Amino acid sequence: MKDGVYRDMWVFAESRGGELIPVAKEMVSEARRLMDKHNKDYKADEKVVAVVLGPKAKELGEECIRLGADIAYIADHPELEVFRLMPATKVVAAAAQQKDVNGYDKPRYFLFPATNNGRDLSATVAGVLDTGLASDCNLLYIEDVEIKHKIKSGGEPKVFERILHMKRPDFSGFEWSTILCIDNVDHDYHPQCCSVIPGSFKAADPDNGRTGDIREMPVSLDANDLRVRVTKRQAMEKGVDLTKYGSIVAVGRGIGEDPTKGLLVGVDLAKALRGDLGLSRGVVTASYQVDPSVEQYVDEERQIGETGQFIEPEVYVALGISGAIQHKKGMDKSKFIVSVNTAEETPIKEFSDVYVVADLFEFGPKLKAALEKLAGKNGGGS
Ligand SMILES: Cc1cc2nc3c(=O)[nH]c(=O)nc-3n(C[C@H](O)[C@H](O)[C@H](O)COP(=O)(O)OP(=O)(O)OC[C@H]3O[C@@H](n4cnc5c(N)ncnc54)[C@H](O)[C@@H]3O)c2cc1C
Repeated sequence: MKDGVYRDMWVFAESRGGELIPVAKEMVSEARRLMDKHNKDYKADEKVVAVVLGPKAKELGEECIRLGADIAYIADHPELEVFRLMPATKVVAAAAQQKDVNGYDKPRYFLFPATNNGRDLSATVAGVLDTGLASDCNLLYIEDVEIKHKIKSGGEPKVFERILHMKRPDFSGFEWSTILCIDNVDHDYHPQCCSVIPGSFKAADPDNGRTGDIREMPVSLDANDLRVRVTKRQAMEKGVDLTKYGSIVAVGRGIGEDPTKGLLVGVDLAKALRGDLGLSRGVVTASYQVDPSVEQYVDEERQIGETGQFIEPEVYVALGISGAIQHKKGMDKSKFIVSVNTAEETPIKEFSDVYVVADLFEFGPKLKAALEKLAGKNGGGS
C-alpha cells in the first residue's frame, strides 16, 4: 500500500488462564506513556488500542482500559480459548484492517510481547499486514528522523515523521541497535511493529476511574485456520527451579577449555554453598561435548537471564561469564554477586560486589575448599 492512513498504537495484550500476563500490563502502560507524549508533540489525539483474545476477554479488556488503553478489542470465542497461531493471526490482522470501524487503513504502531506466543504472532501479523518487525526490544520512543540514503532519486534528505525508535541489545549483548520501520518510496510499512521483552517497562497502577470503548472483534475462521486442534492439555511438570535457592553458581563460556571439568567445578561449588547450578545462554548454545555424567546439567532450564530464569539469591557466583545485558537481566537483583573471570575488564565487573581476576578452573576448587573448611569449623553449618 502507498499513501495509506495510519493511526493509533495497538498492543497485543496476551492472557493466560483468564489473566493478563505481566508483560501485557507493562506494554499497555508504556503505550499510554508513549501516546501521551506523541499526542502532545504532534498535537494529535491518537489512541491506545489493546487487543485481547480468549477467556474473560471483556474483563481483561476493561483491565487494559484501567491501565491506560482507550479502546479494547476483544474476542472471547471457543476457537480462541487456547492460543493457536493461525486463528489468532486471522482475527488480529482482520481487526487491524477494519477501515470502516477504525477509520484508517492500518494501525500506526503495533506492540507484541516477546513471549513464545507473542513472538510467533508478531511475525505472522506483520506478514499479513505487509510490514516490518523489530524483535526483542526494550526501549521505545517516537520522534521524527531525517533520512538521506532512502531517496533513490538522489533528491533532498527527507524527514519521516512520528517514527517509533525501537531499541534492542544486539546479538552480542553489549551493543545497542535502533531499528526503524520506514516507508519506502513506493511502499508504506505500517504498522511499525515490535516485540517487547518482558520486564522492560513498569506497569502503571490501574486507574479505576478511566473509561474507554470495548469492541467485539469479528471472528471468521474456516477449516484451513483450524487445522491445528487441541485435543488434550497437560501442564508440564515444573523443571529446574533456581529461584528457591539462597545461592546460585552459574557457569559461562569460560568453561570452554574443558566443559566437563568446568561444569563439575560449578556443581561442586554450588553444593558447597547449598545451592544449585545455573548457566549463561552461552553454555546452552555452545554444543559442548561433555561427559554423560554431567550432561544433565547442560539444560536450557538452567539458563539465567532475559530468556531464562530471573533469580534474586543471597549469593550469586558467576564463573567465566562476561555479563551480557540479557544475562544481567536475570541476576542483577542478587544480593551479593561474585564474578570470576580471567579478563581484567568485563561488563559483569560493573555490577559485581567482588570481582576476582582468576582462572575458574583454579579458583573454583580453592573457593569450594575454603567454604568446606569454614563449614567444618562451624560444625557443618553454612
Ligand atoms: C534475544 C537474545 C536473548 C538472550 N538471552 C540470554 C539469556 O537469557 N541469558 C544469557 O546468559 N544470555 C542470553 N543471550 C546471549 C547473550 O547475549 C550472550 O551471548 C551470553 O550471555 C554470553 O554468555 P557468556 O557470558 O557465557 O559468554 P562470553 O560472552 O563468551 O563470556 C565468557 C567469559 O569467560 C571469560 N573466561 C574465559 N576463560 C575463562 C576461565 N578459564 N576462567 C574464568 N573466566 C574465563 C571470558 O573472559 C569472558 O568474559 C541472549 C541473546 C539474545 C540475542
